[in-house]
Amino acid sequence: MARLVMKFGGDSIADGKRLRHAGELGKCFCQDNEIVVVTSALQGVTDELLDAARKAAGEGNIEDVSGFIRRLTERHNQAIAESIFNPDIAAEVQQEVVKKLTELEKAYIGICYLGELTPRSLDYISSYGERLAAPILSGVLRDMSIESRAYTGSEAGIVTDSNYGDSRPLERTYDLIPKKLLPMEGIPVVTGFIAKDEKGVITTLGRGGSDLSASLIGAAIDADEIWFWKETSGVMTTDPKIVPEAKPIPIISYREAMELSYFGAKVLHPRAIEPAIRKGIPVRVKCTFDPEGHGTQIVHDDVQKADVIKAVTLHKNVAMLTISGAGMIGTPGIAARAFGVLAKAGINIIMISQGSSEANISMVIERRQLEKAEDALRAEFPRELVKEIFTNNDIAAVAVVGAGMAGTPGVAARVFKAMGQAKINVIMISQGSSEHNISFVVASSESERAVQELHREFNLGGQE
Ligand code: ASP
Ligand code: MG
Repeated sequence: MARLVMKFGGDSIADGKRLRHAGELGKCFCQDNEIVVVTSALQGVTDELLDAARKAAGEGNIEDVSGFIRRLTERHNQAIAESIFNPDIAAEVQQEVVKKLTELEKAYIGICYLGELTPRSLDYISSYGERLAAPILSGVLRDMSIESRAYTGSEAGIVTDSNYGDSRPLERTYDLIPKKLLPMEGIPVVTGFIAKDEKGVITTLGRGGSDLSASLIGAAIDADEIWFWKETSGVMTTDPKIVPEAKPIPIISYREAMELSYFGAKVLHPRAIEPAIRKGIPVRVKCTFDPEGHGTQIVHDDVQKADVIKAVTLHKNVAMLTISGAGMIGTPGIAARAFGVLAKAGINIIMISQGSSEANISMVIERRQLEKAEDALRAEFPRELVKEIFTNNDIAAVAVVGAGMAGTPGVAARVFKAMGQAKINVIMISQGSSEHNISFVVASSESERAVQELHREFNLGGQE
């Protein structure tokens, strides 16, 4: 008997049909396993809740609020009607949902009158997505004759600091969760994303935070595995829209996953699975339409396979900024100032490169932030220090990722030889000393071809 935590994202519970399917997955695996389910809000609901709150604060229109609550009620009622067939259970869940929506409407009306929205009230409002979803999913399980109870994150023992909008769990959460959830009775369904602070005020773990809830719970109850159900097939060798032969990767290490995520394989945020990895609990990305399939397992230690490269990623919508000048050579503090001023402007740096001549530093950032970044750098540096600032927004960043390249000579040679043979010009290169990732910049127009060439060069599609 294994102990599993299963997390369903909004896409997997978008409507009644999918809620039913999620319930079936729980049912199917609970024959041989102990299961805790962690759920997100129905697809898109968190965004809608937040948009409506901002509108209420800005325009204060109470009729809009009523219309919004009506639509939300209809959507959840329809989901209940399509997923719970026993009329008593359906009526009970519906009552619960209507009660919550009535509370929520009052909160919105309050915001209309106050015309003010604090991070604390945003957390309160956005908590409703998960608080509506959990009773439904729990009801679906009961409808399938499985004992189940819905818990909020705080009822399940998650306590956070009071940093509304992006709260961090307190250490004692790890002791509290087993006390609340164990011994397990049937399948508990816990809201992801939300918790409470020590004062008992509702907090959230940041957007996408239900992944973190699932790993916290898994780590605290010593789960054998934590499963993240997705509507796509696990972590892929590359984007199948670019390379049709792309395949799911069966097993990758946490470090490799980390290298992948930052480059746009938005399957799981490494920060969210950190508690699980720290405790050595394997995490698995499973596909809802291939439940028996292996999925992608993410484990603590690097698993080297014969192939040195596990995946190729492409980051579009980026731009490159280069600062350059003879005054930079041998002058300490230039990089610190450049990064500092960009940080102050809220600009995230994706890639960095400086050659040992020190005559220039190149950075890759999100394309939409290019203008702001350029202005910030121009304002910071006098011309005698930084003579020129070049920008290029017609580029993309390609990366090859794999633990197998650490300490293996010749990987970079193969990467760049493949680019040379394909007549693709490499504009900028960066490799961290962990050697898990070689990233480089090419022209936008050549970026997809670069990915295809590398996928073929490292035989990631598995063909001879
Ligand atoms: N519902 C929350 C969000 O959309 C949390 C989650 O889905 O993980 O951010
Ligand atoms: Mg979501």
